[in-house]
Amino acid sequence: MKIIEQNHEILSLPENTLQIMEKAGRTCYKSEDKITNDSAERFVNMLVRKDHHAMVEFSDIIVKFITNRGVTHELVRHRHCSFAQESTRYVKYEGEMEFIKPVWCDDHLLGAWPEQASDPKLSVFPTKASPAEQVWMTSMEQAESDYKVLLQNGWKAQHAREILPNSLKTEIVMKANIREWRHIFSLRCAKASHPQMVELMRPLLKELQGKIPVVFDDLIF
Ligand SMILES: Cc1cc2nc3c(=O)[nH]c(=O)nc-3n(C[C@H](O)[C@H](O)[C@H](O)COP(=O)(O)OP(=O)(O)OC[C@H]3O[C@@H](n4cnc5c(N)ncnc54)[C@H](O)[C@@H]3O)c2cc1C
Repeated sequence: MKIIEQNHEILSLPENTLQIMEKAGRTCYKSEDKITNDSAERFVNMLVRKDHHAMVEFSDIIVKFITNRGVTHELVRHRHCSFAQESTRYVKYEGEMEFIKPVWCDDHLLGAWPEQASDPKLSVFPTKASPAEQVWMTSMEQAESDYKVLLQNGWKAQHAREILPNSLKTEIVMKANIREWRHIFSLRCAKASHPQMVELMRPLLKELQGKIPVVFDDLIF
């Protein structure tokens, strides 16, 4: 098995995002004649401060996440999005299975484990792993081993998935407009959210705040 970190990748963020929003917004006020080369940012700033958020619906952002099954299960609850999620029905994990390191576990868990031994009871995990981390790693190792035994005994991937854990690496592509992303960040970056979710979403928010601050910089966590 391999323990990896979760991450995100922005697949699409139109360069003319603010210009599209300005064009839409100025249609309401019939002020298109005020459009200049640098008017979009100021205008969108005004829209956001006035809570005229319908205008920020005119641009979509597509993001690919690599995270765990528990987190993707939470993400797909957001209803104004499009999703493409790695399928445990159609993907057969025959090679090394990947699990996502819980964010509260130490980085020394990252990598391919165990170093030797096919019997999980003999597994060699990092010496610095705490008792709880060792339990988690042993459990992942056992799940991988059992999954493969089920396949060997004739179960299909969609049957053997019954025993896969929440920590299973899962890829998901998610498209939403900026209004919905703002809503998602307001829920999923907040302290009340699951720590694995918070640690996935805050870096994405930070990256987007760097790219188009005007529509995200009021979201502070
Ligand atoms: C901290 C936390 C704990 C949670 N715990 C649980 C839990 O224990 N059990 C559980 O089942 N879920 C739980 N959830 C998920 C939660 O119930 C929502 O399903 C999820 O957060 C999606 O949020 P949403 O419905 O606001 O947003 P979206 O689906 O993203 O929709 C965005 C907004 O559109 C509007 N909207 C969308 N659909 C409708 C509609 N049909 N009618 C009216 N308005 C609509 C609402 O204003 C909504 O806020 C939790 C979420 C969080 C953040």
